[in-house]
Amino acid sequence: MARYTGSVCRLCRREGAKLFLKGERCYSPKCAFTHRITPPGQHGASRKKNSEYSLQLREKQKTKRIYGILEKQFKLYYEKADKMRGMTGENMLILIERRLDNVAYKLGLGASRAQARQIVSHGLLCVNGVTVNIPSFLVKAGDEISVKENKKDKAVFADIKAGRSVNLPKWLTFDNEKLKGAVVALPTGEDIDSAIADHLIVELYSR
Ligand code: SF4
Repeated sequence: MARYTGSVCRLCRREGAKLFLKGERCYSPKCAFTHRITPPGQHGASRKKNSEYSLQLREKQKTKRIYGILEKQFKLYYEKADKMRGMTGENMLILIERRLDNVAYKLGLGASRAQARQIVSHGLLCVNGVTVNIPSFLVKAGDEISVKENKKDKAVFADIKAGRSVNLPKWLTFDNEKLKGAVVALPTGEDIDSAIADHLIVELYSR
């Protein structure tokens, strides 16, 4: 399946929630969702979708869009989580949270997950000193994430080097000057975006 290349603001309108896909613009008055909240399309405003199935489907689509993951890979996270001990939905989100592109975003290395993904796939980051250009790479506790020495002067890192503050989750640390961070522990259920109703996704896949 091809990656979505249309307007990402349209996706927020489709899901009826701000998905924060455009970096700083999402926090500014320019955010398209603050002006127009109806679903896209000619009949968007009159569309009614509140069956159990549509709620489950929309929750899954919303989560995929937040993290920028395609269906096949998203389902693989579910299947992996289903074999793990504990709550499947929570485990699935923890697995996704551990993706290197998400970690780069949380460290403030990209203004959005899409930009963080590009930073990873362009090979600008190292994990434990080794270049990793796979956005879906799963970090583990104790991993050190750093910007490659010869890429530190890239414009994309200028503001973070200048001290832009980032609201770091408690499982990550970051040194703005050295452009180096660490995974101090694996994320837990408390670190997951509470706006995601993971039980709806589990119900959908368990059908
Ligand atoms: Fe969504 Fe961000 Fe666009 Fe607002 S600016 S509609 S939050 S992607």
